[in-house]
Amino acid sequence: MTRVTREIKGRVNAEINRCIAIAEKHYDRSFKFPTVVYKKRGTTAGTACDLTYTIDLNSVLLMENGDDFIGTVTHEFAHLVDGIVNPHTRDGGIRYDRFGRTCRGKRSVHGPSWKRIMRLFGVRNPTRCHSYNVSNARVKRSRKHVWVCGCGNGRVVLTNLKHNRQLRLASSGYGMYSRGHTPRRCGVYTYKGIEGTATPKPFRDRYPTPKPKTSTKLAHAVKIVRDNPELSRVKLIALIQVACGMSTAGATTYYYNAKKA
Ligand SMILES: [Zn+2]
Ligand SMILES: [Zn+2]
Repeated sequence: MTRVTREIKGRVNAEINRCIAIAEKHYDRSFKFPTVVYKKRGTTAGTACDLTYTIDLNSVLLMENGDDFIGTVTHEFAHLVDGIVNPHTRDGGIRYDRFGRTCRGKRSVHGPSWKRIMRLFGVRNPTRCHSYNVSNARVKRSRKHVWVCGCGNGRVVLTNLKHNRQLRLASSGYGMYSRGHTPRRCGVYTYKGIEGTATPKPFRDRYPTPKPKTSTKLAHAVKIVRDNPELSRVKLIALIQVACGMSTAGATTYYYNAKKA
């Protein structure tokens, strides 16, 4: 986590104090100083929690965007003030509809009441989104490892932790399997690489060469026998054996069948 310097923390606190002073004057009541933490990660600049009266700020964005970021402090503190002075803007707040019946308050955290408070704090155009440079704040996505079963249809995608477990267990038939594709049925799972970077299946694996049918093998044998009348029986059988990829016994049978054909 990026360390938030004492100087930046001082500016965050100063902004909150500035807003507290304005709010206390306007609403004629006191506002506590909120708990401020710097745990937010990712591309979210900050969040505010009514229940714990806490503002959580993104330390990476805070350190990189400096003065611009102070607007987030204002934004989040406005949420806390809004939650106190306009509790109906929160989930579960009780309000009355036009017939005098009680109803649940509609959740509208960036609604008119929040915008009013933002203007009170001196923000001209309150927007709900921030526009900081967030490129460095992106949380690194952990790599996902792909394992595939023997039949090729069972597939599990594992996090680093589970992947390391699988490395130890897969060869012994334990580990993670997709439903119905157990090592007993499909053979042990093999590692295919990191998800998204897996090499596509080779063309020949997708369209395997069909095995020559018996009839075409015979046609082959017939052609070999007819085309080479000068060759001996042994040489013809050897030729058939190589051309059709069969045993000597098989080639011999085809040789005689070819002679008869
Ligand atoms: Zn907000
Ligand atoms: Zn399988």
